[in-house]
Amino acid sequence: MCEHVFVRWENLEKGACTQGALPGVGDDAVVRTFDAPEALGVRFHEVEARSALNHVPKSSRMPFRWTINPYRGCTHACVYCFARPTHTYLDLNAREDFEREIVVKVNTPELLRAELRRQTWSGDHVALGTNTDPYQWVESRYRLTRGVWEAMRDFSNPCSVLTKSPLLLRDLELFRELVTRTEFTASLSIPTLDEKAWRATEPHTPHPRKRIEAVAELARNGIPAGVLVAPLIPGVNDDPTQVEELLGLIGETGAESVSGIGLHLRGEVKEIWFDWLRQYRPDLVPAYEKLYRRGAYLPREEAERLSRLVRGRSRPRRFTTGHRDDARPVVAKEEPPPAPQPRLF
Ligand code: SF4
Repeated sequence: MCEHVFVRWENLEKGACTQGALPGVGDDAVVRTFDAPEALGVRFHEVEARSALNHVPKSSRMPFRWTINPYRGCTHACVYCFARPTHTYLDLNAREDFEREIVVKVNTPELLRAELRRQTWSGDHVALGTNTDPYQWVESRYRLTRGVWEAMRDFSNPCSVLTKSPLLLRDLELFRELVTRTEFTASLSIPTLDEKAWRATEPHTPHPRKRIEAVAELARNGIPAGVLVAPLIPGVNDDPTQVEELLGLIGETGAESVSGIGLHLRGEVKEIWFDWLRQYRPDLVPAYEKLYRRGAYLPREEAERLSRLVRGRSRPRRFTTGHRDDARPVVAKEEPPPAPQPRLF
């Protein structure tokens, strides 16, 4: 088992391999800790997953029924990430462990091929990037996401991806093949252009302008591309002038759709978010206590105000609105610019 690990990491220095070190994923886990300039202090846990395709429960309002996540945990480390609590199922915490203990499902492409080959497989749309980022840094080493597209291409299976990384351009040639055989879309999540807000809220993500360039490159290559301006965070990245600038750039990329979604704070993420606020924006704490006093979601008026920031000003043809769980594309109507709204901050 360890030999397998060292094949994948042969160009890196210093490895330590231990077996069964990740209780939540069982005895198959192999852990290797390594020092590499790009991934200092990150541990990778290689596991043999039992299935690649995850079924989304019927109760979910997600617009797709199947997802694939080759990785658990995410080194992009966005403070607001709604996937953080899933790390607690692995006996790891939703804070630094989520960012530094990354589970790598090394057999994802092989498993997927076996699952797509089954007579019972429905041929449904499969979404990547719905939980953790399939193009986080480690993908440049493991290439599991690439293996997923190769399988999707060979089985002509409809699929889509959402990421914060221009690393997806590495797979452009596969995307070109996918769009000739099936339905495929690629979306970049770009919440802000503001350097300070970007650095503070999503510290290890690629620069937002690189993401804009990636959208343009996708569109230039005939790949249906979209942008998710999310989350929109009251008082942090919702300045109308900044949103306007971002939407202006998106409008020039050739993106087919853009959507805006307000911040939601489910489970432990709420506590993590408030810790962040106390450190970086203590001035906003009282307002946030008011905004989220009823739970994980913004009050309707505030969610609508944020949604209008994107809908009223963007140029691409399609829009999605509202919460990520119901982020279904809708055809945009021509709307006048939004009337000035009372601002909370
Ligand atoms: S890139 Fe996505 S999955 Fe990764 S930490 Fe940020 S929000 Fe979470």
